Amino acid sequence: MVVSMLDVKERIVCRVTPAQAHTWALCGGFFQAQYRAGKPFAPTYSSLLGTSVHELIVAFDRAASATSAASSAVNDLDDLVWRNWHAGRFATDDNHRALAEAKTLLTAYADLRQAEVVQVLGSEVFSQTAPRALGTGHTIVLSGRIDRIGQRNDGTIELLDLKTGAHLPTHDELYNDPATTIYHLLAAERYHAQRIVVAQLSLRTGGRVEVEFDADGVAAGKDRLREMARQLVADDFSLTPSASCAFCPARSTCPALLFGGEAVERPL
Ligand code: SF4
Repeated sequence: MVVSMLDVKERIVCRVTPAQAHTWALCGGFFQAQYRAGKPFAPTYSSLLGTSVHELIVAFDRAASATSAASSAVNDLDDLVWRNWHAGRFATDDNHRALAEAKTLLTAYADLRQAEVVQVLGSEVFSQTAPRALGTGHTIVLSGRIDRIGQRNDGTIELLDLKTGAHLPTHDELYNDPATTIYHLLAAERYHAQRIVVAQLSLRTGGRVEVEFDADGVAAGKDRLREMARQLVADDFSLTPSASCAFCPARSTCPALLFGGEAVERPL
């Protein structure tokens, strides 16, 4: 997901992505540090693998839609990988391992496509809302890239976040994640569907979790987004130490680590 935000103090408009909202829910200080740095996480082997696998999935879905059948679209996954692999993305020592993992994960996706009854409407779809008034003289634009949008036989719109790692949130974690609210609102504005589900699927384990909001869920999610926007405008973020501190760009100067509890190991 792309990190982008206009200057909230001068333009009084903020643009927030699901990834940013997820980070904000982990820790406001983490979110603030990423914004100041102007970039998301430093790339890791796992994030680069995720990028590569998503590119392969887009290529797979394009081929499947061109032939109208996932089963016949890509008989030769090796060839598809060969044509869409960016070897220079990885360190030389990592490339062989990444290639093998990517093929395994793409095969899992191809198997999923064979088994599911979903019409894929798009992969890696960028979407954004019109500016939404916050009631404080500020507006917010929600935007993000959706891994895959599908439509089930009953008309339900399914937003699927494809994970290349094994970890998935619980149902409640996904339901309460402000990123999920953003995905829901992006789909609601784009499709006006009766039912929208937001799902995550691990290509590594086959595990899946999905949620659907009722009116109360949407209202509660919007409240969380309003609070996030309030903190953006006020530059007022709380610090919530957790295991995520290990990946936070603020970890070497964070007061919560320097003076905080003993549970969190401080970096050298
Ligand atoms: S180091 Fe931890 S507590 Fe401090 S800003 Fe980062 S995530 Fe938050």
